[in-house]
Amino acid sequence: MNALEITQLKYRYRDGTEALRGISFRVLPGECVALLGPNGSGKSTLLLHLNGLLPEKKSEAGAVKIFGEAVSSANLELVRRQVGLVFQDPDDQLFCPTVAEDVAFGPQQLGLSETETVARVKHCLAQVGLSGFEGRSTQHLSHGEKRRACLAGVLACDPRILVLDEPTSDLDPRGRREFKAMLRRLPATKIIATHDLELAVELCARTIVLDHGEIIADGRTGELLSDEKLMLAHGLERPHILHHLHPH
Ligand code: ADP
Repeated sequence: MNALEITQLKYRYRDGTEALRGISFRVLPGECVALLGPNGSGKSTLLLHLNGLLPEKKSEAGAVKIFGEAVSSANLELVRRQVGLVFQDPDDQLFCPTVAEDVAFGPQQLGLSETETVARVKHCLAQVGLSGFEGRSTQHLSHGEKRRACLAGVLACDPRILVLDEPTSDLDPRGRREFKAMLRRLPATKIIATHDLELAVELCARTIVLDHGEIIADGRTGELLSDEKLMLAHGLERPHILHHLHPH
């Protein structure tokens, strides 16, 4: 069964902007897919659809299926349990005073007991390298730590699909390296919208390129990113890292 199946997904914002013009693709369980494209190409709009944040009224039902279940207002809750979305800006995601409260919020909503919740918070903070941060104020973390806390909060709901919007955009080189290593260790199916082409090469076997709300290319990351003509035509560039790699 596909983890994700998108069929002819279209979306138009209220002001008439056509953000998605008929997107179709499937993702198998365990795949890690990079979503590339210039600003305004539709990446964020697509990610929001993956957990039903933008109700898709105009297109026919069944445009987005998560593990075979069509996303609709009737099963939004079920879908959101399966899909964990890590926002681009951690400040949009963190809303509790302390790290522990923030990470505990999801498990509490799922109805876990206090003991289970505490154990899960501890486990997820350890997964992102924030052991012992339980009592820290979410507002006084470094940017990298905020990103990790967001990821811990999402992991705490145990999603089968992890969706990340620009996870490394404002991290320093060490922060980026550590965050990538952490993502690599997570077994969930991953969809990562990014401008960080090294991240795409290092983590994602497959890449989808979006432009003007359409899929321009979908294939093996190394091949697509080595295609200089394709990259330049869609506001991207061939990453330096590929210059050091053999073509095969
Ligand atoms: P990306 O994430 O690739 O930068 P977006 O999904 O944010 O692209 O945007 C896709 C298109 O939709 C762009 O033309 C953008 O200007 C437009 N858009 C995004 N959000 C809104 C909104 N809330 N209202 C109207 N247009 C929007």
